[in-house]
Amino acid sequence: MTLGKTIDGKAFAEKLRGRVAVGVADFVAKTGRKPGLAVVLVGEDPASSVYVRSKGKATVEVGMESLEFKRPATISQEELLELVEELNGDPSVDGILVQLPLPKHLDDAEVIARINPAKDVDGFHVVNAGKLAVGDPTALVPCTPMGCLMLLKDELGDLSGKEAVVIGRSNIVGKPMAALLLGESCTVTIAHSRTHDLAGVVHRADIVVAAVGRPEMVKGSWIKPGATVIDVGINRVPADEEGKTKIVGDVDTAGAISHCAGITPVPGGVGPMTIAVLLRNTLVAASAREGLPMPEGL
Ligand code: NDP
Repeated sequence: MTLGKTIDGKAFAEKLRGRVAVGVADFVAKTGRKPGLAVVLVGEDPASSVYVRSKGKATVEVGMESLEFKRPATISQEELLELVEELNGDPSVDGILVQLPLPKHLDDAEVIARINPAKDVDGFHVVNAGKLAVGDPTALVPCTPMGCLMLLKDELGDLSGKEAVVIGRSNIVGKPMAALLLGESCTVTIAHSRTHDLAGVVHRADIVVAAVGRPEMVKGSWIKPGATVIDVGINRVPADEEGKTKIVGDVDTAGAISHCAGITPVPGGVGPMTIAVLLRNTLVAASAREGLPMPEGL
């Protein structure tokens, strides 16, 4: 076994986007319309604005319709819910994504609960979370963990019987990741801030998914030789050059790379997969709404 491989999420995401584009062309040929993704951005948060711009660009690049709804940070909860209802009822909209976090006076959970689950391409609605939990294949699955699973299957093939440790139990990454790995018949442990002997727990794993939000917390020495590591973390830290910052993951990549079979880099690993899976989910949702079968190869 060759140790120390970097798993190129950027290249895989490009391939996935190519497959989505083929599926979109087929969808257009069959239905005479493009799948539509509506993205709602509330306020002027610079990071959210960048995400929304790149989502819009990627959506158009695969041949889908991108609809952006920018609203001021002063929007009321009622007005935002009305917008969601409008999009629920709009036949040209197949996917609805409300960019989070919302300004503090707004209730994220109520907004997500109002999205039609069939258009919930982020997979955050409890109906989709429930479908994932019971193994219903019609679930729309959160993009980041779905992207992680795709990378793992591409690297390892059959995951059945493997020991998987997911660090983090958030509703958007940790829990759905664990459910996906269980669905692949892994033996799954979910670790979190109350876990005792995290190093020992991680050392058992053939697959480690770190979704914590703590820079380079998972040390190389914790990783079992030959394990595959998926680093979901995105942490901004000071760079060597004064006044500059850089992005690092939750895993000490330099320390882990000599122990592991493969590891996703940060940036360039899981990050690019998230938007690619969003596009995939939009095509899946559009196909389901039109009564078409699940697009091939996705
Ligand atoms: P949350 O803050 O919602 O969850 C973090 C989880 O980490 C919690 O379950 C928490 O445990 C656990 N945790 C915190 N400290 C420790 C510790 N010392 N030991 C073990 N577990 C700990 O984060 P998210 O799930 O939203 O995101 C996680 C990371 O992934 C972030 O860096 C985020 O930026 C990144 N991310 C990246 C995406 C991408 O596209 N690449 C998309 C989404 C997120 P507890 O529940 O006990 O508090």
